[in-house]
Amino acid sequence: MKFIGAHVSAEGGVQNTPLNADRIGARAFALFLKNQRQWFAPPLSKETIRLFKENCEKLDYKPFQILPHDSYLINLGNPEKEALEKSRKSFLDEFHRCEQLGLDRLNFHPGSHLKLIDEEKCLKIIAESINITLDKTKGVTAVIENTAGQGTNVGYKFEHIKFIIDLVEDKSRVGVCFDTCHAYAAGYDIKTAEGFENTFKLFDQIIGIEYLKGIHLNDTKKGYASKVDRHANIGMGLLGEDVFSFIINDPRFDDMPLILETPDESLWADEIQKLYSMLK
Ligand SMILES: [Zn+2]
Ligand SMILES: [Zn+2]
Repeated sequence: MKFIGAHVSAEGGVQNTPLNADRIGARAFALFLKNQRQWFAPPLSKETIRLFKENCEKLDYKPFQILPHDSYLINLGNPEKEALEKSRKSFLDEFHRCEQLGLDRLNFHPGSHLKLIDEEKCLKIIAESINITLDKTKGVTAVIENTAGQGTNVGYKFEHIKFIIDLVEDKSRVGVCFDTCHAYAAGYDIKTAEGFENTFKLFDQIIGIEYLKGIHLNDTKKGYASKVDRHANIGMGLLGEDVFSFIINDPRFDDMPLILETPDESLWADEIQKLYSMLK
């Protein structure tokens, strides 16, 4: 089965996210567990946790249909000690929030080297950050997202993700989220049927398809291999619509959250409907 949805607003509290998802016909959703522009936030109240679980139950959203995203401030590969500690502390807090809400995965961008160290050293720090976090938590998988390679971000090559996974001690709790916009901007040509097949053949050879835990469905405003991360609504960017049809009709992407992060949220309900209508 395909579970398509969007990254919905958590305004007023995370308990509102299942309601916001249901309102647009989503069968999956993503959310921020706290204000994404803050390092730390007050703990989740018992009432918020209870209502979140109750709303998920009522609207039939299971953990495998939900893909929380961490704060954009966190850099798990930060070369500077104090800043790294702050990121790790904030990341651990996000993991605890997942545990409290009964969620089984947390999606994050791997990190940035800030031109202070090389990519390999940065990837090692990221793996260490993941190991520290997994050690202190239970039942939540760390889901690494491929990046566009903008600025000093690592994670724009499958080899980077493989390098991190190889260093993670508990392989049962590490996974990958594939972002279509980021992949194309990073130089994976998923626009054509042939390019799409090749990309996922590589994904399987290098990383292993069993690590895939979610997909971000985004068109792109910037071109192939541009290394610039600018999402566009479905069919309104340079990727076109075919790639989304390939995904929707491919059993490798069954039973995981397929999430829109497209900029105009007034189009989400229509986009979800359109994507479901691509099912052959
Ligand atoms: Zn994404
Ligand atoms: Zn992006």
